[in-house]
Amino acid sequence: MLPYFTEKFGNASSRTHSFGWLADDAVQTARQQVADLINCSEQEVIFTSGSTEGINLAIKGVWENYQSKGNHIITIKTEHKAVLDTCRALEKKGAEITYLNVDREGLIDLQELKSAMRPSTILVAVMYANNETGVMQPLKEIADIVHEGGCIFFSDATQAVGKLNIDVQEEHIDILCLSAHKFYGPKGIGALYIRRRDPRVTLFSQIDGGGHERGLRSGTLNVTGIVGLGKACDIAKSEMWDDAVRISKLRTRLEQLLIELPNTFINGSTKNRLFNTTNICFQEIRSENIIKKIPNVAVAMGSACTSAIAEPSHVLKAMGLIDEDSYSSIRFSLGKYTTEEEIKEVVELVKKIINQ
Ligand code: PLP
Repeated sequence: MLPYFTEKFGNASSRTHSFGWLADDAVQTARQQVADLINCSEQEVIFTSGSTEGINLAIKGVWENYQSKGNHIITIKTEHKAVLDTCRALEKKGAEITYLNVDREGLIDLQELKSAMRPSTILVAVMYANNETGVMQPLKEIADIVHEGGCIFFSDATQAVGKLNIDVQEEHIDILCLSAHKFYGPKGIGALYIRRRDPRVTLFSQIDGGGHERGLRSGTLNVTGIVGLGKACDIAKSEMWDDAVRISKLRTRLEQLLIELPNTFINGSTKNRLFNTTNICFQEIRSENIIKKIPNVAVAMGSACTSAIAEPSHVLKAMGLIDEDSYSSIRFSLGKYTTEEEIKEVVELVKKIINQ
């Protein structure tokens, strides 16, 4: 990224001089790197500021463009707030939204999805992997049901891209959003994949102006961020397999050791789950009482809420957890640089606090 902050400072949209061409070359290289990671064509990738923007463009963009076909969208109660709040905003404008339930494992019932489909359904939005529990829905089966109903399938793959081998062709995903900072890229940059063939998906733009990104997202491109995103894709493609093997072993170790504690259980399916995430309930102990005693360990409460009075996690609630158990749950996310020593240290710290 560094040269693009300094000597290669051109604007990628400047067509009349070499500074612009240099920047544009870098953007096109990054577009190809994103496309290679998820197996699509570079023409199907547009750059965004991250997944929240991508989600807004995907859901609002479909709703506004397919009004003549219908007004109904299906999603899941455990989606990220960016999806749920976007749906709520559309509801206020008259959209009909179905929020599917999940079971105790965090998984939807495919039969319930089939029953929810209507002739007026235009979009189904199901995330690839949940950010609080790591739970992964059966995406391929879902995509088949969605396409049988002639609808568009959008997946928020923010947590999965760069960690799993995602193939939008194989998995029949029509729109997918990703965000660089989830796989060691810079913050504030992401991309949206929009299928061009079988079916061709068209979106109504949400940001108008100079017509950048094929008219879908006007605004001067964040060249440095885009270069960083492209490089992160490149590195992820070559390293994610090894990372997955190593990290999943560490996650298993962490869980085995913590689960030994009394009244402790894992939230969500342990079969259909992203390899780096675990969400553990330490019953009868408020998670904040553990978290505040380990300030140097970056863990999260079930809820992403940052206000003083944290709400119980909507994800755990949808899975049927009582509020007390939700308040006692902690999400641990392991990464590329997590070591065995760190796992041991965290286990010792948590055990000590709980025993106290
Ligand atoms: N979707 C999921 C599943 C996420 O985990 C996040 C970020 O935490 C987002 C969407 C929002 O992404 P961004 O921060 O890039 O807007």
